[in-house]
Amino acid sequence: MEQTFIMIKPDGVQRGLVGEIISRFEKKGFYLKGMKLVNVDRTFAERHYADLSAKSFFDGLVEYIISGPVVAMIWEGKNVVLTGRKIIGATNPSESAPGTIRGDFAVEIGRNVIHGSDSVESARKEIALWFPDGAENWGSSLQPWIYE
Ligand code: ADP
Repeated sequence: MEQTFIMIKPDGVQRGLVGEIISRFEKKGFYLKGMKLVNVDRTFAERHYADLSAKSFFDGLVEYIISGPVVAMIWEGKNVVLTGRKIIGATNPSESAPGTIRGDFAVEIGRNVIHGSDSVESARKEIALWFPDGAENWGSSLQPWIYE
């Protein structure tokens, strides 16, 4: 089973989308293995987005992420990194398909509600950054009804 890091950004929290987003991942058949509501500071946000530090939108992105609490989560399941990105939709909400989270709930690229790791390697790094104690270890009794 693969794990990914998902973060509901401050706009998603402020707009009351936390339950809706969690529900989409739950109903798909993925397992919530870590979750916290947290305000991150500038240094932490800069570390999370270090790969984008040369981008013109970097400062605005960091301001956005530190503007309010975020919900940080670990989700687990088969191909959860790639499938999670599909559930989230394209980075720019004007290109995200209806039915995706960004396609349904966002308009601007700089207010796109949610983050999801873009590879297994970034998921590993992001989970280590946000959850230094690792994931919660539990198993669902319904797993055989979702996984062969
Ligand atoms: P994703 O979040 O889909 O993995 P990126 O890693 O490319 O996308 O960018 C990280 C975040 O930076 C995006 O989710 C978005 O909030 C913001 N961002 C990306 N491109 C732009 C842009 N051109 N202008 C403003 N913000 C942007």
